[in-house]
Amino acid sequence: MLLTITTTHYPATDLGFLLHKHPGRLQTTELSAGYAHVFYPVADEEQCTAALLLDIDPVGLVRKSSPKGNDFALAQYVNDRPYVAGSFMSAAIAKAFSSALNGNCRDKPELAEKALPFTVKIAVLHVKGGENVLKQLFEPLGYTLSFTRHNLDSVFTEWGPSNHYTVELQHTITLKQLLSHLYILMPVCDTDKHYWLAEAEVEKLMSKGTGWLENHPSRAFIVRRYLKNLPSLANRALSVLISKDESEPEPESVIDAADAETAAEPGTTAAPDAPAVLRQNIHELRLQTAKAVIIQSGARRVADLGCGEGKLLKLLLSEKQFDFILGMDVSLRSLEIAKERLNIEKLPERQAARISLIHGALTYRDKRLNGFDAAALIEVIEHLDESRLSALEKSVFGYARPRTIVVTTPNAEYNVRFTDHKEGQMRHKDHRFEWTRAQFAAWAAKVSSEYGYSFVLSAVGEEDAELGALSQMAVFTNSYSGKTPSPAGPAN
Ligand code: SAH
Repeated sequence: MLLTITTTHYPATDLGFLLHKHPGRLQTTELSAGYAHVFYPVADEEQCTAALLLDIDPVGLVRKSSPKGNDFALAQYVNDRPYVAGSFMSAAIAKAFSSALNGNCRDKPELAEKALPFTVKIAVLHVKGGENVLKQLFEPLGYTLSFTRHNLDSVFTEWGPSNHYTVELQHTITLKQLLSHLYILMPVCDTDKHYWLAEAEVEKLMSKGTGWLENHPSRAFIVRRYLKNLPSLANRALSVLISKDESEPEPESVIDAADAETAAEPGTTAAPDAPAVLRQNIHELRLQTAKAVIIQSGARRVADLGCGEGKLLKLLLSEKQFDFILGMDVSLRSLEIAKERLNIEKLPERQAARISLIHGALTYRDKRLNGFDAAALIEVIEHLDESRLSALEKSVFGYARPRTIVVTTPNAEYNVRFTDHKEGQMRHKDHRFEWTRAQFAAWAAKVSSEYGYSFVLSAVGEEDAELGALSQMAVFTNSYSGKTPSPAGPAN
């Protein structure tokens, strides 16, 4: 596999200084399972190209790193690993270009700070998810992207295309930025990498995301894929991104995206005084967690109750498992925004038939909520007066009775961690209450026993040993397949 980096900055041979590799020599670095060779096919003042060629020993890989989870023995020896740019290319960049990756240039330090025109060619990259994933990863960072998709076999063309691409990227940025993007995003394209990655290395890789990963629109996707076989680390990594922001000196508190963006009633405004990245992070984690739970439940018809601006709906719509998705909210303004977010009017007919948005209040029993396998109440209950909660319980747990109900709510104990926290202050002015873990657990137990559900509680976000996590979740399950009459009578 081959990676070339070309610049037309004048004099282009400065690239040699930046990479700490002399353009006149072939230089070889030993890796854990092979070699990385650096050489310059072109090196003049107008144009200079550095090539990083990897020579990986597939048998050495098996012997040295004992891949896990591959029960096809031959696949350990016969695979695409020696030919694709994935985690090995990242390891090679880290070793062969370590100073450049850290932003150092010994002889011309000012060059390391300068945005220079670069063209990168990667031959070849295995991209799970194809060209959409390539675009999703590189375009938000400002790259001009072009690629060639290769057939599975050049002789048997009827076998069709493979997921192997020759990729070309152009951008004017610093070399450090360029290398750190490649370092993280190449293994994200190619999700096989974890067979040979140690946990410690994964943590190390995360640090290369500093300065850009926090703001990348596909941040959660990148982190999850990156830490694919290590979901617990993925959660931790997302939390690290969050707490990095928390450690900034500004006196800002963590406010949830939903809280900041979606007021309960039209006309009320939120106070989004936390950095957007922070708010997005925890909310994204919450939504992804809820989606995973709902998928896991096997639901085909799902209702997002208090759907707000439709963020969860959008995630659910992309899952084929769901035949029908309902969004309900009391706020017309939020529903309008959701409609736009989902582009409902322009959806193809079949897609449009899968989703419906309705205006309604959860405190009134509503026939339109019947017949769902799962329902989500993401950061909704705390927007109701505690005295009205029992009406919601009746209408959702008693009357609609989906088999699975996912409820998330802030964990009040965590609030003391916010730098501008004041005694008794809630995260958002529309919150009517915020519960500790014990209060939430007591409520979940009460509702479960009243309406015949079982429940499991969990933390969402990085867990503080003493205070718990930012958010908390309860997943209620009712083992009856049919609808049973509400034991507590109708709501209202
Ligand atoms: N679930 C969304 C929005 C959370 S904000 C998300 O996670 O992004 C809380 C939402 O609950 C708001 O959109 C608010 O309008 C809605 N809501 C509050 N009380 C409600 C009620 N009684 N019935 C229906 N929706 C309600």
